[in-house]
Amino acid sequence: MKYDYDLIAHYLKVDRDTFNREIKDKAFGVLNNETKSQVYTGGLLALTNICVNNCHYCGLNRENGTINRFTLNDDQVKSSMKIVKEMGLKRILLIGGENPKISLNSYLKYIEEAKKNDLEINLAMGVFSKKEYKILKEAGLDYYTIKFEISNPKIFNSCNPDITFEERMKAIYEVKEVGLKLGTGSIVGLKNQSFKDLVNDILLTKELEADWVPIVPYIPAKNTIMAKDTPFGDVDILLRSISLLRILLPNSQITAGQPTQNSTLGFADKEGNMDAMRHGANKLFVEVTPFALQKDFEITQGRKLLQLQKIDEMLDALNLKRV
Ligand code: SF4
Repeated sequence: MKYDYDLIAHYLKVDRDTFNREIKDKAFGVLNNETKSQVYTGGLLALTNICVNNCHYCGLNRENGTINRFTLNDDQVKSSMKIVKEMGLKRILLIGGENPKISLNSYLKYIEEAKKNDLEINLAMGVFSKKEYKILKEAGLDYYTIKFEISNPKIFNSCNPDITFEERMKAIYEVKEVGLKLGTGSIVGLKNQSFKDLVNDILLTKELEADWVPIVPYIPAKNTIMAKDTPFGDVDILLRSISLLRILLPNSQITAGQPTQNSTLGFADKEGNMDAMRHGANKLFVEVTPFALQKDFEITQGRKLLQLQKIDEMLDALNLKRV
């Protein structure tokens, strides 16, 4: 079966029973067979909430004067990596705003530290040059994450005033060209996103052969432009997208930390997480950002994550394995 535009469009709107029978169960089967029931779990460390950009959907936008801005120091990064290792996890994601005050040398130190702790390392820190991606790759960086957010250039440009869609895509292709694994994906429910865009977002994720798909629903964040008139994204469409992506990209990791519709528990909603895994998602994070700083890293409202014990309980219930 060829998962082209028409077939994906069909499955995004077919009745739920048919979808469950023909796609959801198949996607869970792919997760259990091709993906060997593996759920990739890692530590998430917010490195900085300082950002030079003003994306209309993100709580870290530079215009938001209501959060205390921070950048972790080297000792905080080192001790967080140690914590990840002591938890028995094998990977760490360093995520943050685009903060030009953090030098390339600092990132090289963090990569070296991750390797000392036998951790796979993923950076999601905004746009670098191709030369810099190459230096990071040569230093041992495993993944670089840079989302395309939406495949429609006009909408992308309307809510990302500091970078064009073309520039973002160039950066994404450069990550691939230097041989880094790529984390990329979309947001379900951005302002003015059409049904056609939702189908094209899935097709673009496939075309990019994303190694990690950090797809999420749009969740309004305080003090952002988009939150004024855009509701919570459609979680049913999100879950259908996850299943279709699992079938299209059987070996990729897909974010399972998902909310239920309008949940106040955010990404720490156990039901949302389990539902995402039943649809084929298989990547989870445990927060290792120093506790006192977590409240100032609200990219979206109520950004919380489940603790490791809860993750293990969910995986046991679903007969999945934490790796
Ligand atoms: S999405 Fe990223 S680049 Fe945009 S404002 Fe938020 S942290 Fe900055």
